[in-house]
Amino acid sequence: MLGNKYGTHRVIEPKGVLPQPAWKINNDVNTLYDNEILIDVLTLNIDAASFTQIKEEVGENEEKVAEKILEIVNERGKMHNPVTGSGGMLIGRIEKIGSALKGHLHVKEGDKIATLVSLSLTPLNIKKIKKVHLDTDQVEVEAKAIIFESGIYAKLPEDMDERLALAVLDVAGAPAQTARLVDPGDTVVIIGAAGKSGMLCSYVAKKYAGPTGKVIGVVRSEEEAKRLRKIGITDIVVADATNAIEVEEAISEMTDGEMAEITINVVNVPNTEMASILSTCDYGTVYFFSMATSFTKAALGAEGVGKDVNMIIGNGYMTGHSEIALEVMRESKELRELFESLYVN
Ligand code: NAP
Repeated sequence: MLGNKYGTHRVIEPKGVLPQPAWKINNDVNTLYDNEILIDVLTLNIDAASFTQIKEEVGENEEKVAEKILEIVNERGKMHNPVTGSGGMLIGRIEKIGSALKGHLHVKEGDKIATLVSLSLTPLNIKKIKKVHLDTDQVEVEAKAIIFESGIYAKLPEDMDERLALAVLDVAGAPAQTARLVDPGDTVVIIGAAGKSGMLCSYVAKKYAGPTGKVIGVVRSEEEAKRLRKIGITDIVVADATNAIEVEEAISEMTDGEMAEITINVVNVPNTEMASILSTCDYGTVYFFSMATSFTKAALGAEGVGKDVNMIIGNGYMTGHSEIALEVMRESKELRELFESLYVN
């Protein structure tokens, strides 16, 4: 029995939509369509904006966070946070490949993979939550998941810890898009620069902007500033990105009023659209990777201050994104050590 390649055969509510925007999907893992892949899930990496929202709602408590995750998955058939709308990704072992796909894939049963499509569209059936890592957004589970025919995934690399790979692959679109956007000589502002995607983007922006460019990291604390210095970013603003004027003034001072050609927003909280827009020069580009971005706030906010900027929605997928992101880990010893200390524990 063949299902739809995008997974619409599993949509329960509302009918006629794709699995990502659906409210509820069928997570029955006992019936596998011939063009689906069954995954024995080991770890979930909950999207940072989603995890932050859940912790704010239920408190920094492992049991309560686990309960909330189970509540969402049991209700929707997928880990699709109803407040942030975001998901995350997972790692697991391929348990079964549907008969229609067998022999056509670059993976086989038993391989360990990371999904590169969002948990917000992935049928997920959790039997047990074994451990919630409050500091890394990772959750160890006993669970099964389904990948549709159109789904993308990557075999886990053999030269790095799987938790490191999981952390990097979760945000792989951001460094890849940064590499595409930044040209030699550019001034680049990265808002949320000491987070997971922030550090990857900072490193890549520095590399592509070159010696004539400038990369400015906006971070929330001096501790985060220290982290950035370790990877060679020395132009740093310590500020609250929800305070647009404070950020604008700091960036203006550091760029002699020229502002940034490219601004990359990688925070995990809402209300940072205006800091990003005001940091950018006219005809510059703002890349909103953050899942806490509001289209309305960005569009009306830019209009309201008369800023002629291009704004890009952070597509999680880009050709070659997983290879680009993992390569950064191999390239920079400092960044890899930092990631290992933060995400492998
Ligand atoms: P992360 O590691 O949690 O990093 C977020 C950073 O933003 C942290 O350093 C955080 O500081 C900082 N921050 C929070 N509030 C701030 C404020 N008011 N001012 C300045 N900095 C602030 O998150 P991530 O995993 O890199 O993800 C970043 C964003 O990308 C999230 O919104 C996530 O949902 C999104 N994302 C998008 C896609 C996509 O496909 N577009 C895919 C994956 C993730 P603290 O640590 O002090 O809070």
